[in-house]
Amino acid sequence: MTGYAHHWADGSDIGLPLGKIVCIGRNYAEHAAELDNPVPDAPLLFIKPATAAVDMRRPLVIPHDRGLVHFETELAVLIGKQLHNASEVDARAAVLGYGLALDLTLRDVQAELKAQGHPWERAKAFDGACPLSPFVTGSALAGRSALHFALTVDGEARQRGDTAEMIHPLFKLIAHMSEHFTLVPGDVVLTGTPKGVGPLVAGQALVLTLEDALRVETSVQ
Ligand code: ZN
Repeated sequence: MTGYAHHWADGSDIGLPLGKIVCIGRNYAEHAAELDNPVPDAPLLFIKPATAAVDMRRPLVIPHDRGLVHFETELAVLIGKQLHNASEVDARAAVLGYGLALDLTLRDVQAELKAQGHPWERAKAFDGACPLSPFVTGSALAGRSALHFALTVDGEARQRGDTAEMIHPLFKLIAHMSEHFTLVPGDVVLTGTPKGVGPLVAGQALVLTLEDALRVETSVQ
């Protein structure tokens, strides 16, 4: 196991078991376009297992023998209540915390899988494929109609996210996910990446921020 456990940004343990990680592909139009992917009408959902999660604050250990490993910076939402066929109102009430994730993707492997019409797990569900930051409460982000997040690599701005640009807005997305997979306390929802994805290389220094509420520095091994 990875030794990962959900933490608040102040360092305290959240005390919920890590469950599954439910993700959406192509939730930002400009990112879908940069990979030449059509935007599907229904959300494109996939799941990363708990064994993919690692603490983002530790150096990121990535595979070096399976082609390109791309970063995808995403808003992560920690679920605090069970959701099944939930309304948007229920979905909002079930969010316990907000954080950041890297949806690490073996891009060359994914391209092969896509070409063959095969599932994406080998490209997105491997051990370490989901570095997660600590979480902050909704009240730490209160008063904002949209959330902004960013990634810099070696001091250079690479990705900027604005949740107002999501094709499937956050609470509607969580409600939709709950129609297909019951969400339980400790599950995490990843909300898609904005444009600017690119390869991770050993030695890079990454800084991820969520508004002024969260800042995580990490590196690539
Ligand atoms: Zn993603």
